[in-house]
Amino acid sequence: MITLALSKGRIFEETLPLLRAAGIEVLEDPETSRKLILPTSRSDVRVVLVRATDVPTYVQYGGADVGVAGKDVLLEHGGSGLVQPLDLNIARCRMSVAVRDDFDYAAAVQQGSRIRVATKYTQVARQHFADKGVHVDLIKLYGSMELAPLTGLADAIVDLVSTGSTLKANHLVEVETIMPISSRLVVNQTALKTKVALIGPLIQAIEAAVVP
Ligand code: ATP
Ligand code: MG
Repeated sequence: MITLALSKGRIFEETLPLLRAAGIEVLEDPETSRKLILPTSRSDVRVVLVRATDVPTYVQYGGADVGVAGKDVLLEHGGSGLVQPLDLNIARCRMSVAVRDDFDYAAAVQQGSRIRVATKYTQVARQHFADKGVHVDLIKLYGSMELAPLTGLADAIVDLVSTGSTLKANHLVEVETIMPISSRLVVNQTALKTKVALIGPLIQAIEAAVVP
């Protein structure tokens, strides 16, 4: 049996075609079902639904053998115990720095200066500002990052951006792109060895279906 950890929403939706190409149909819709374990058309494959940020944890400890997680989530998790064989090129966006449209970011990040940054992505943000030689006070948030510069909680945010329309609607501007983000297939290190007969072909079939 292979257990595959997915999060509801865009990752689930965008993973479905890849699974289908690998001959796996998920037999229930997570938007209408209350089940957290979903059967598939293959008796030896099941899907478990977990929070996006919990996918690496499930796979690391073997609660799931395989999962799909955003690079953003994987960087914060650190990736220990995980093999990342494939970039699935789905759930694409970018990790960016944004500020209020009336904030002078260039002045705020001059060498030796100090800036207050609110984010869910403290590891990435810490590294980014360290690389620039900017001292940063990080404020950990779990959502609605856009609100932080508007309320004076922070000077800047580090968040995911796709179209930029949420930023625009909140009078924020993207001032720096940190990195492109997409979702990856992650596999439990031990399961990759002990269940190679099941997981190997699954990786190959998914790889063949990835849209570059
Ligand atoms: P939760 O809703 O459980 O708090 P979440 O907000 O991280 O978790 P999603 O918004 O579904 O869950 O995001 C899941 C993943 O999809 C993210 O980790 C990221 O890799 C990617 N993602 C997030 N926002 C976007 C976006 N605007 N466009 C494309 N991909 C995105
Ligand atoms: Mg979200």
